[in-house]
Amino acid sequence: MAHLLLRHREIENLKKLDVYQAHGGYEGLKKALSMAPADVIQVMKDSGLRGRGGAGFPTGLKWSFIPKGVGEKYVVVNTDESETGTFKDRELMENNPHQVIEGTLIAAYAIGAKLTFNYMRGEYMDAAYAFEEALKECYADGILGGNVLGMGKFACDMYPHYGAGAYICGEETALLESLHGNLGQPWSKPPFPAIEGLYRKPTVVNNTETLANVPLILQNGADWYKSMGTPSSTGPKIVCLSGHVNKPGNYEIIMGMTYRQLIYDLAGGIPGNRKVKAFFPSGGSGPVVGADALDAPITYEGLDKYGSAMGSASVIVCDETVNMVWAARKATHFFKHESCGKCTPCREGTFWLDKVIHKVDAGRGTENDVKVLNSVAEQIGGKCLCALGEFAKNPVLSTIKLFPQDYQAKVKANGR
Ligand code: SF4
Repeated sequence: MAHLLLRHREIENLKKLDVYQAHGGYEGLKKALSMAPADVIQVMKDSGLRGRGGAGFPTGLKWSFIPKGVGEKYVVVNTDESETGTFKDRELMENNPHQVIEGTLIAAYAIGAKLTFNYMRGEYMDAAYAFEEALKECYADGILGGNVLGMGKFACDMYPHYGAGAYICGEETALLESLHGNLGQPWSKPPFPAIEGLYRKPTVVNNTETLANVPLILQNGADWYKSMGTPSSTGPKIVCLSGHVNKPGNYEIIMGMTYRQLIYDLAGGIPGNRKVKAFFPSGGSGPVVGADALDAPITYEGLDKYGSAMGSASVIVCDETVNMVWAARKATHFFKHESCGKCTPCREGTFWLDKVIHKVDAGRGTENDVKVLNSVAEQIGGKCLCALGEFAKNPVLSTIKLFPQDYQAKVKANGR
């Protein structure tokens, strides 16, 4: 199947405006500008598009929360891609930036925003270069600026903003604080960004991949879009696949494909024909699942019965040679490092989880240390200001539950 999001793999130089336009580029925006903003939002609702950043919130519904009428409003693109094993938005921005710009402009028109920002990882230098080149082309061509597409419908400007490499700035309120020039720490909701966001004005924050879907929906219609996938998980999805697979990388799939098909049919299976022991379905964030989940569909609900979630679809595969204490330690260290420190359960909890799991993994732990890990992780749950704290408990809790033998092996190595 030809790609819809990663179209640059078939179309050379798609990041150039003339090439993008020759392949239907900005036709979705043209269609949107011929409609009333409320109708654009309705098309998005009808399409079933849900956020691709991890939470899966319905995009049209999010846009509809923005108060109607005049006044400052903003669209902010979240390209602060920092989850472990996640590299999809980077590929989009480096190779297909106009599709993201077009989606952002459609969102701006739908909610009545005149100013938009793309918050990108500062380390993504090639993505920054491609985006800035695309912006220059858009201003020169009248796609951005005082009269978008020359259709006399609205004016819109777009700016890049480069973050300093903090995972927490992918959380929408921390991202907005960072855009304000403040320390990137989340705020307690309410207020929600739809009411008080950037500069305390109504703001839509959408993930990069989410917005890359938007022009396709406007151009081809909601029915076309929802003919792909399942009733509650429509359209294409980019899956970032890494770990023990023969061909790691980004794969654009239609939602509903199973993890087994992804790993074996698309990615060539496991090196040395070893078995899958487990996989992280959403980077370090979602609970680890065992090989019994391989036949689950890649959808928002596909891993419900395994106690996990698709999230941003960053699949990290662990083969049978991996001791899952080691895997949990790596993920836990990441969360400890990235905790912003604003709330105590996360700040102190991740510190102790990291310290104790390091000890157990090094073969210096006791059975009581495993109980301490379980207890600390459980006490983090439900007590944190943002999702990072909730995520931080998952690697430890899910591996203790699914792979107790790996912990026992480590403890036995200590002889206690
Ligand atoms: Fe910061 Fe962690 Fe609290 Fe989130 S849960 S606000 S990352 S300390």
